[in-house]
Amino acid sequence: MSLTPSAPTEHAHTTQPIAVTHSSMPSLDEFVAEIAPLWDSRWLTNRGAKHRELEAALNDYLDVERTVLFANGHLALEALIDAFELTGEVITTPFTFASTTHALVRRGLTPVFADIDPDDYTLDPASIESMITESTSAIMPVHVYGSLCDVDAIQRIADEHGLKVIYDAAHAFGVTRDGVGVGSFGDASMFSFHATKVFHTIEGGGATMKDPEIATRLRALQNFGIAGPDSVPHVGGNAKMNEFAAAMGLCNLRHIDEEIAARARVTERYRERLGGLDGIHLVAPQQNTVPNHAYFPVRVDDEVFGVNRDGVFDLLADHHVHARKYFAPLTSDFECYDGVFDSSLTPIARRVSTQILALPMYSTLSGEDVDRICDVISSAAA
Ligand SMILES: *Cc1c(COP(=O)(O)O)cnc(C)c1O
Repeated sequence: MSLTPSAPTEHAHTTQPIAVTHSSMPSLDEFVAEIAPLWDSRWLTNRGAKHRELEAALNDYLDVERTVLFANGHLALEALIDAFELTGEVITTPFTFASTTHALVRRGLTPVFADIDPDDYTLDPASIESMITESTSAIMPVHVYGSLCDVDAIQRIADEHGLKVIYDAAHAFGVTRDGVGVGSFGDASMFSFHATKVFHTIEGGGATMKDPEIATRLRALQNFGIAGPDSVPHVGGNAKMNEFAAAMGLCNLRHIDEEIAARARVTERYRERLGGLDGIHLVAPQQNTVPNHAYFPVRVDDEVFGVNRDGVFDLLADHHVHARKYFAPLTSDFECYDGVFDSSLTPIARRVSTQILALPMYSTLSGEDVDRICDVISSAAA
């Protein structure tokens, strides 16, 4: 991609930068064929043909009863909060992307942070239970990096206390357990179809749920609260998916199995190369679960490894490899929440956020590139 040609050297390839992520795309021809009918129909948004086709295809692929498409995942999450009329406190995780916490706060709720499991980084059910008060209305767990939360334990707690469960499944597209789609757990799930996710519509998102009334309410909420020609029962915003985004989704969905299979090969190579390194913790594969290989996080235990996470990050950067401190800081430590939350109450999440590093992961990452990344990490070991 360099504009200035440099003299070829034996090691020229080793200085090519490796990005942390790289969007998958269909061929240009495939996308053009998909959008061509829009020049005839002139129906560009508001539940057009592509939108309806993608919704049906996703119900099928995700093995869920219904999907409501959105302009992005974040607005799907905010709309779900409105649709379920959540109030007061919602128990959630601080080890997540900004969106999860911000959605709750922006909808007038109080996030109450429970701690996470030190091995797969999802919400620890035991910690959830101790946070429940009279004001708790729901639990909002996150399937972090695509690892499935302890959905059975969470559901038991929710049933016992009459709480809703809304999953942030932004990382978990296509994950199944015992053949059951991840979007079937809890009362509803939010998926992100952002360009950096395993499946994407450039920008986009979806909400999956069993209750048809929630779906109806979401469709109104994403279209200014309008339910019919003379009926506006909700104070809604605008969060509809457009036809070009839906067309990109239809193309990407055709290739999703190859996409995930290619990522699986990257995972396998990382595991081979890093699995035996003392002080580098990998997330173990989950039982009875088909993963989506959305990310490849490593946790650097500096006391054993000899170098801390920031040291590994910097060394990789020196070698033109861009990893991501994901998630750091904890959302409860964001400056916009200064003095509001106390992250010392979630000590495991706090420690993990200082040790975690998401390595480059995408379907076109070559085996040689993975080796190059792993060589740098190995060379850092004390
Ligand atoms: C990407 C992401 C979101 C937000 O989704 P957008 O489609 O970007 O709005 C929310 N939560 C998590 C965990 C994410 O990774």
